[in-house]
Amino acid sequence: MSGREYVNKVISEVEKRNLGEKEFLDAVTEVLNSLVPVFDKHPEYIKEGILERLVEPERQIFFRVPWIDDKGNVQVNRGFRVQFNSAIGPYKGGLRLHPSVNQSIIKFLGFEQTFKNSLTGLPIGGGKGGSDFDPKGKSDREVMRFCQSFMSELYKHIGLDTDVPAGDIGVGAREIGYLYGYYKKIKNANDQGVLTGKGLTYGGSLGRTEATGYGLVYFTEEMLNDNNTSFEDKKVVISGSGNVAIYACKKATELGAKVVALSDSNGYIYDENGINLDVVKEIKEVRRGRIKEYLDKVPTAKYVEGCRKIWEIKCDIALPCATQGELDIESAKILIKNGVKVVSEGANMPTTLDAIEELQKSGVMFGPAKAANAGGVACSALEMSQNSMRLSWTFEEVDEKLKEIMVNIYKNSKNAAEEYGNPGNILMGANISGFVKVAEAMMAQGIV
Ligand code: GLU
Repeated sequence: MSGREYVNKVISEVEKRNLGEKEFLDAVTEVLNSLVPVFDKHPEYIKEGILERLVEPERQIFFRVPWIDDKGNVQVNRGFRVQFNSAIGPYKGGLRLHPSVNQSIIKFLGFEQTFKNSLTGLPIGGGKGGSDFDPKGKSDREVMRFCQSFMSELYKHIGLDTDVPAGDIGVGAREIGYLYGYYKKIKNANDQGVLTGKGLTYGGSLGRTEATGYGLVYFTEEMLNDNNTSFEDKKVVISGSGNVAIYACKKATELGAKVVALSDSNGYIYDENGINLDVVKEIKEVRRGRIKEYLDKVPTAKYVEGCRKIWEIKCDIALPCATQGELDIESAKILIKNGVKVVSEGANMPTTLDAIEELQKSGVMFGPAKAANAGGVACSALEMSQNSMRLSWTFEEVDEKLKEIMVNIYKNSKNAAEEYGNPGNILMGANISGFVKVAEAMMAQGIV
């Protein structure tokens, strides 16, 4: 069987078995299509059913999360943890709290996480979890009660050497604190390495907050340098205004770029003088407010309702850092028309499949999420190491390791693309490089 026949066969089985799971199917299709040359070179992977096993999560846990709101009413949410692949280490991946969360989204994220974690070069498998709980507008006490109820089930399935969750959309330091406090209480165990993204006072790592955004910029800078350019004097548009967007903005600005726009789910701000990050951090990190409040402090800036319009701004570099599917083919065409040189993904799967194709066809440099945003989880693995050793590295030590990891991810992806006959296709190279390590680990461990 040729590589193409094998991939087509597995994709059509996945379609039949996972009806209606669009995000999961998109993620599987994108990865598998780029692996065709790998199967032509390694028919032993076909014989051992590597793909059939890889597309099926090792374990999926869905559970009820009841909690009581501030008015005394009972609320019920749905909890998820998908333990996707443990071939190279304990399951590792974030928890997402957002009303859109469902089986398809958690599975797509867990699938992607498996390759992303492999790319970091660290011994971590892939997993993901979360709930359709919406933290927006909830009081601290409501968030706490939800997190405690969520953990009262999740603790049975996680562990230092089994599965190590962290944050994702809607889960930051506050939520990780509540989750960890409750885990410790019901397990009577100060297993600090069981969650990452912890606060600095109880086992968190310096640099973890910044890691995804900084890592995205380090990766993108390496890609730019490799093409004889840099962030210096470039106009940058970043969607989102959460953790990833804020620290991507900070690092890009430090490297000489001018970041002119950020967004949230309601709309975007445009500041031609360059975003004032202190104002954004006060709104988003301190007050949990909306991005349009930026205008209260910077009246010369503009606010435009509708977050997708952000891609109409002329820029050299676009960093989608909000959520999946936010950059579609229409947006890609506008970016291309306006002369964009680079699109590099801070969010997971923000660019739709047809938009990626359009960007690549037009010669735009493309940094795929599983490579470009791997800095967050890489730093989580560094947090696990520090917890095991019961010591803390300095910010500089962590940042230096992060930079080295991101540069290596770029180089390995570039080399894999060349080796498999598609030089310059970093998307394909990242998929292949991430996949081969997982496949080799699975081959070595037999049919399990
Ligand atoms: N949620 C992040 C990601 O998508 C980080 C996961 C982690 O640190 O485990 O990679």
